[in-house]
Parts: sequence; structure tokens; C-alpha cells
Amino acid sequence: MTSAVADVDLGPGAAVAVVDVGGTDTKTSMLDASGRLSEVVHSPTPRGPDVVERVVDGVVAHVEAMRAAGTPPQAVGLVVPGIVDSERGVAVHSENLGWRDVPYRELITARTGLPVGFGHDVATAGRAELVLGAARGERDVAVVVVGTGIAAALFVDGVPLLGHGWAGELGHSVVDPRGAHCVCGADGCLEAIASTAAIARRYAAVTGEAVAGSREVLERAQAGDARAREVWDGAIEALAAGIRQLAAILSPQVVVLGGGLSRAGDALFAPLTAAVARHVPPHRVPELRPAKVGAHAGLLGAALLGREAIA
Ligand SMILES: [Zn+2]
Repeated sequence: MTSAVADVDLGPGAAVAVVDVGGTDTKTSMLDASGRLSEVVHSPTPRGPDVVERVVDGVVAHVEAMRAAGTPPQAVGLVVPGIVDSERGVAVHSENLGWRDVPYRELITARTGLPVGFGHDVATAGRAELVLGAARGERDVAVVVVGTGIAAALFVDGVPLLGHGWAGELGHSVVDPRGAHCVCGADGCLEAIASTAAIARRYAAVTGEAVAGSREVLERAQAGDARAREVWDGAIEALAAGIRQLAAILSPQVVVLGGGLSRAGDALFAPLTAAVARHVPPHRVPELRPAKVGAHAGLLGAALLGREAIA
């Protein structure tokens, strides 16, 4: 499967082999010397005991294909999920993919001879929103990605707040201490109430009816289903409470919302903006904006990292 890339231009510079390893889907593309990404190739993310070897083999094969095509890359940009220490180039931990302390930068440089820009998928996608997208020109920003899980990329005075990969786990901030149980062991995490998966799961728990996803819960709410409305409104209130925590601690001027839930558009942004205006004062109320770089923010961020890795 392939898909076209958002119309974003990084400007002239080095060609980069870019790979975004997701929880289920891996995206591969090429940044050319003019600063544009090629068509994106999607493939299933490898699983199993040899996952690290197969991820590295995939990146090496991509570099070799670019060389064979006469467009040799000068760097690799790679982003992965989980806890990531981008400074050391190490994937610290991924619950989903089952790896621990993998020195991806070193492994790929050894096989390709290229510098490797390495980062976390959400942090890197957030960076793309800051440099190229919805938060361009801003300095105090949170980019919150609400999908199957919830995570944030945080920027304080224009600098990413990384905490060696441990910062930005907004999904596991508790917004209702008596709320739903979370996979992390706590009760009432934002992610257990307001992720796309949680919205579908909560509706199914209340009604006994399985739904395809949060989209369907929203459609049912809009059609007058009171229980769907309650679940949807609960997610909005939880997100507003999460944004209040961000406002109290970091006071971002702008909160960019991306991920699957942000595709709900006005059905999300209108009530959330109102809830934030109610919940956040006396702290500074941030402006909410939809993500602009969108589905390929991770790849664009990986391309930026790759170029920056060239000494
Ligand atoms: Zn949690």
C-alpha cells in the first residue's frame, strides 16, 4: 500500500532515507535534495523475537534501494514508538513491540555508514508541527496526539522537553482518581477515558454493544443516543482536565491536537474549546489548533532529524 504525502516542503538539502515504525504499520519514504518526501510505502511492523533485526534489515534495504536507484541518501531518519532516548540513539522500551535498550543508531550506522537521526514517533511528529505545521513560529507548545493511546510532545521556549524519553506521557496523567482502570495500573488516566480505543470500549461496556471505533460512538451521539453522548462528553471533559494540567505546569500558548480523534473536527474542537475555557482559568488558556502536518508528521519529523544528524 502507498499514500501521497501532505504538501509540505523542507527546502533544499541532503537526501534522507526516512522510516517511521508504528505500533502496527511501518511507513517508509525518501526525502529528496529539493526537500520533498516521495510517496509513502506502508508495510506491517515486524513482530516476534527477531523484531529488532527485521527493523534494522528493513532500514538497510531501504538505503540500498535508494543507492541502487542513483539517489543515495546522506543520512537516515528513524522514529519508533515507546520510550526513546533520542540523545543516545537508544530505544529504551516498547511494551507493544517487546524490545528493551536497543542501540538503533549504532546498529544502523554500522550497516550503512550513514549518520542516523533517531527519535520518538510522537515527539518527532510534534517537532514537525512546531517547525512546519500548526505551531510554526510558537515557542511554548504542547502537541497532543489522541489515538489508540494519548501522548504529548512538549516544547518549552522552543526547546523539546524530553526527560530522556520519559516526558510527555500525558495519557497516564490521572484526570479522575475514581475513573476507569488503565493498562498502566492506575485508575482514571486520561488515556483510559478519552483515547479512541477507550471511547469505543466505554460505550461497549455501558451498552453491551460493540462498535467499530470512537467515530461510531460520535455518530450515535449525534443521532441522539444519550449513552453515546455521555461517553463522548466524558472524553471531552477528561481532555479538558488534561489540558488544565498542562496549563498549570507548563502553560503552553498553543495546544495542537492530532491523531485519530482530531479528525472529528468541530465535533471535538467546539465542545473542547468551551470546556477548556471553563476548566483552565485561572491558568492561561491555551489556543487549541488542529494538527496540520497530519498523518505523515512522523515521517517529516524523521526527515528533519536525518538532516540534522549530518555533521
Ligand atoms: Zn495509565
